[in-house]
Amino acid sequence: MKKQTSKQTSYEKKRSRMRRIVGILAAILALLMVGGVILSALPIFAVTKADVDALKKQANDAAAKKKELKKELDGIASDISALDKQIRLLDGQIEAQEEEIEVQNELLEQLTIMIGEKTIELEESEAEQARQYANMKDRVRYMAEHNNTSYLNILLSSDSFSDFLNRLEIIHQISVRDEKLFEQLKAIRDRVAFEKADLEQTKADAEETRAEMEANMKELEAQRAEKVKRLEEAKNAKSAANKAYNDMIEREEKLLDEYKKAAAKLAAQSTYVGGTFMWPLPASNNVVTCKYGMRNHPVTGKYKLHSGVDLRAATGTKVYAANSGTVTTSAYSSAWGNYIIISHGGGVTTLYAHLSKRLVSKGDKVTQGKVIAYSGSTGYSTAPHLHFEIAKNGVTYDPLTEFKGFSYTFK
Ligand SMILES: [Zn+2]
Repeated sequence: MKKQTSKQTSYEKKRSRMRRIVGILAAILALLMVGGVILSALPIFAVTKADVDALKKQANDAAAKKKELKKELDGIASDISALDKQIRLLDGQIEAQEEEIEVQNELLEQLTIMIGEKTIELEESEAEQARQYANMKDRVRYMAEHNNTSYLNILLSSDSFSDFLNRLEIIHQISVRDEKLFEQLKAIRDRVAFEKADLEQTKADAEETRAEMEANMKELEAQRAEKVKRLEEAKNAKSAANKAYNDMIEREEKLLDEYKKAAAKLAAQSTYVGGTFMWPLPASNNVVTCKYGMRNHPVTGKYKLHSGVDLRAATGTKVYAANSGTVTTSAYSSAWGNYIIISHGGGVTTLYAHLSKRLVSKGDKVTQGKVIAYSGSTGYSTAPHLHFEIAKNGVTYDPLTEFKGFSYTFK
């Protein structure tokens, strides 16, 4: 009895050491996966249900992360379109401001010309005034220098009183005329000076307005530069997020593939149920639209293995279990849409993808011919069809080799 216990302990020790090694390997694997590389995790050790579930969980986590990244991408895209809109709006405001400044410059040019003209006009009127003043001074000087032509002499040399009055009147009129003329010239000069001052004030106001416009323009341009910078940042963030998103899509696909292989390997540890496969659709749905083999994927465009056959089926067509077994997966993935995997024992599995509706759950036992789903076009699919796979120990092969007696046609 004692011996047996000790034996068991030694066995448990071995098992615990093995678990540690597996743990270390899993950690290395996790590191490799972070780098985007997934090693085929399971060829060395026997697969446990926990391994399969862990892979499934990782695939689900990747799908959740992918969803988050998509949300982030959408957020960035909407930021970009908002910034684009704001920049276009600012462009419009800047253009309008530029036009206003141009109009203001033309106004200022006109005002400068008008002030120049007024300056000449003012100079001329001042010159005229000066000329008139000089004339008067000359006349007075002349009269002072030639006594006989002084006002008094002019008056005293009159022939008669009437002549005297005439001369007095003439002298008076000359004096009045001089005074009037002088007044007129002064009025003209003052008016021109006033007009010039008025124009200069208008010009000063216009310059102030232009300065305000230029300040506003600078402000608009600063705002635009800020938005352009933010747009640039958003575009960089977008390309980074886009890369992360695409990486995550790839990671999810790889994990699902690993999961599928692990599930198959787990199933291989049981015995195959035997018998021939049944066509997974009603016999009338016998058109194969895409064979098993290498091809460019119709949605992703990548050149890779088409790991099953595509069978034409309108959405809602009954999908049958091709053989008896246990449902190991009934789930949704972005690539396969709604899909089901059935384990038939002995490592043989069948997969049914792009379903519109799943009728069985993980763990359900199904017999051959049971309606397990309705076909559809979910996931990476361009038209309603059933994607059907058969795999042995996680390795797919051409399913049509199992239907030698069945009459199908190729599209
Ligand atoms: Zn397919």
